[in-house]
Amino acid sequence: MTYTVHEIFYTLQGEGAHSGRPAVFLRFAGCNLWSGQEQHRASAVCRFCDTEFVGQVGLNGGKFSTAVELASLVNTTWQGSDATRPRSDAQKFVVCTGGEPILQLDESLLDELHSAGFEVAVETNGTLAVPTSVDWVCVSPKANAPLQQRHGDELKLVYPQDEPEAQPARFEKLPFTHYFLQPMDGENLAENTRAAINYCLNKPQWKLSMQMHKAVGIE
Ligand code: SF4
Repeated sequence: MTYTVHEIFYTLQGEGAHSGRPAVFLRFAGCNLWSGQEQHRASAVCRFCDTEFVGQVGLNGGKFSTAVELASLVNTTWQGSDATRPRSDAQKFVVCTGGEPILQLDESLLDELHSAGFEVAVETNGTLAVPTSVDWVCVSPKANAPLQQRHGDELKLVYPQDEPEAQPARFEKLPFTHYFLQPMDGENLAENTRAAINYCLNKPQWKLSMQMHKAVGIE
């Protein structure tokens, strides 16, 4: 399979249970809920995306014809640019995101990433089943997009949303370890954050997830 990758970079995870943890971000191009083109946003299933996953390719992006080639670049990204002093192999962590990573993340690539010593996380919209060998599953459900992946480590819901099917109560009985509300970004962020805080205070099953990377100015 040929993998189409938008970018690969080393940073800190900014959201959810692994917030603050160093990670390689492997951002696949393409999503099944929006084309990524602004002219299609109004008619897309998912309309509040804040991620660029198509268009001009970012750092280390492009086409990779083998899983070995792609996993190797993820590994060298972890190791860093100073070949004489690579980063430690301890706690190697790759976050597969997008777009929708499950469109492309297959067993071959998972095998290669595991062989290189990575713990593999995915951030998915949950409309496709996640391979069982993924180590950390974060599902971010979207309204009007039937949920196939109904269990995992973290459920991260953007809040508030108007649609009845995007209300937190709909997800509270699904078997996840962590339940996060992430305030909807945009001009109402402060108001949305207060609403999310109030919801968590009233329903302690939920925790607040802030987009730390935006606050501290990292990718
Ligand atoms: S599902 Fe995720 S990647 Fe796809 S358009 Fe929505 S927010 Fe963006």
